[in-house]
Amino acid sequence: MSIPTTNDTTLSATAPGTSRSRLEPIWLGRGIALAAGVLLVVYPMVSDDIYYQNMIILSLVFAVGTSGLNIISGFAGYISLGQGAFVGLGGYTVGVLASTFTEASPWLWVPVSGLVAATFALILGAVSLRSRGPAFVVITVAFLFLIQVIAVNWVSLTKGTAGLTLPMPTWDHDIVNWPFYYALVGILALQLAMTWWIRRTKLGMGLIAIREDETKAATIGINLPTEKVIAFMASALFVGMAGGVYGYYLTFIDPRGMFSILISVQLVLSMLVGGKATLWGPVLGAFLIEWLNEMANNDWGGGNTRLLLFGGLLVLVVIFLPQGILPAIESLLNRRRSRGKAGLVGARISAGGSLGSLTGRAQVIERGATPDRAMLEVKELKRHFGGVTAVDGASFIVPAGSITGLIGPNGSGKTTLFNLIDDTVTAESGEIRLDGHRIDGLPSWERAHRGLGRTFQITRLFREMTVLENVVAVQREFSVRQLGRIAVSGAEAKAADELLEFVGMRAFRNQKARALSYGQQKLVELAQILMLDPKLILLDEPAGGINPVLIDRMGEMIRELNSYGKTFLIVEHNMPFVLSLCDPIHVLARGTTLASGTPDAIQNDPAVVDAYLGADFAIEDRA
Ligand code: ADP
Ligand code: MG
Repeated sequence: MSIPTTNDTTLSATAPGTSRSRLEPIWLGRGIALAAGVLLVVYPMVSDDIYYQNMIILSLVFAVGTSGLNIISGFAGYISLGQGAFVGLGGYTVGVLASTFTEASPWLWVPVSGLVAATFALILGAVSLRSRGPAFVVITVAFLFLIQVIAVNWVSLTKGTAGLTLPMPTWDHDIVNWPFYYALVGILALQLAMTWWIRRTKLGMGLIAIREDETKAATIGINLPTEKVIAFMASALFVGMAGGVYGYYLTFIDPRGMFSILISVQLVLSMLVGGKATLWGPVLGAFLIEWLNEMANNDWGGGNTRLLLFGGLLVLVVIFLPQGILPAIESLLNRRRSRGKAGLVGARISAGGSLGSLTGRAQVIERGATPDRAMLEVKELKRHFGGVTAVDGASFIVPAGSITGLIGPNGSGKTTLFNLIDDTVTAESGEIRLDGHRIDGLPSWERAHRGLGRTFQITRLFREMTVLENVVAVQREFSVRQLGRIAVSGAEAKAADELLEFVGMRAFRNQKARALSYGQQKLVELAQILMLDPKLILLDEPAGGINPVLIDRMGEMIRELNSYGKTFLIVEHNMPFVLSLCDPIHVLARGTTLASGTPDAIQNDPAVVDAYLGADFAIEDRA
């Protein structure tokens, strides 16, 4: 029914022999959605009850508004209380244009109102780019009030608080509501088609990645500002059009009504009640809440009852239905279906496939032929946190084609160094060159596009995405064409499947990442960054906290990838692992490079032994 983050149709693939006779929830959902759609379309033809037609028209406006909100708030996770502004902007666009060009049909201005709303969304998106959480919500509220203030005070355009009167409908009295009704049904269909499509594309994956972990999203190539601004525009386009139809339908609009904060609150509430980040949840929520809203207005005294109702509902939903109605029903159905079934319990990490199948992406290099070129060159990097200088002028080189090790006691700044290299944390000073080109100063996603891949010491997968989605969320380059590419099937999914096969995790492709063990997460994170086709791979403690068999397998994979031309820089505490795999090895102590050399030289360096014994006085003596 919904388009949630699971892919229901394929969950059963790993549990062969399950009965096909029972109805899959997704088909049940599709059936209900189809029935509701048919009902919606035939309703005005079978009933001429104006009261209910009016209620459905309002519900349709809210359904489009909520579904639009779902893109920026449900997918990308940025809760906006300014969504109502786009309804109002749409209404005012049609209102102002229709009263200026009295000859033309007001319908002509409906698409224009969509464009106007999207343009304002672009501005709001650009202004709010750097804010998150509560600060973002406040900006969106301020935006709504600002637009309202403009509508009140720009009297020559909007007639201010007196309000605007639109032309009356010119068509046959018998069907007076039909054009509004069906125009809104059509706009809702377009809105849903767009939402459905976005959820399948690289753009949609990127938005969900932003919701789950924005910093991590940037390191896998997702251009944060561009994606957020596109999401904002997508969340406003059809909403503006629906607002235009709504204004025409009302025939009278004023700033208090059109830019009421209650509209925005109702939209957020509808999304949360129905189920955010799903396809149908926002629609269900919008119809439910609008129905309650009508009851509150007509039967329960309106005004403050409405506020009380919305506030109370919001609290109840947050406490009892944090996921919303649709996801709750869905997980209930899925639980009933899978009862008594082994599910994925039997799935195992496989021995792993060969990267040979990825010949299109990897080239085998001849070791002897590689010149002594630096893949990574770090010079005098510095960064401190309060009184702690975490990285203090570290300088070193990672030769192209090498598996270079980086060791040092806990707290010596290894992870921070990685953070500076991929701009997860910004360096205070110093130079970073990747394959000969300066990359300091570039944002994380551009460093990723230049060929930098990085795993985290504590893995950072997108927990609510499936394993496959985690891998296809990666963006190798930035282009509008790539954003629109379908991610969850076709070539992207095939490439991801091959990488998952390589790390031995293909059997888990439809599992949510949060369901994986720590070692499994490490493997998936490796597959994920391989999707970037990086020149240089930074691994932060790849053997940390995983079982010995997996450690061996990790070593084999690193060697194999290296034979395909991938350069590695590896932070690791497991000495046998480092000594057998890495050459050269750099030793970091107190944020600076203490020594560099072959495994043999490092093992016999007294300074290194001192540092590792924790005998800090030895280093201090030198200083
Ligand atoms: P390593 O990975 O070598 O164990 P880290 O880079 O994690 O070391 O940490 C180096 C030092 O910087 C430590 O003293 C740590 O407490 C400090 N540090 C790292 N990140 C932060 C941060 N975000 N805020 C404050 N201090 C930090
Ligand atoms: Mg660390």
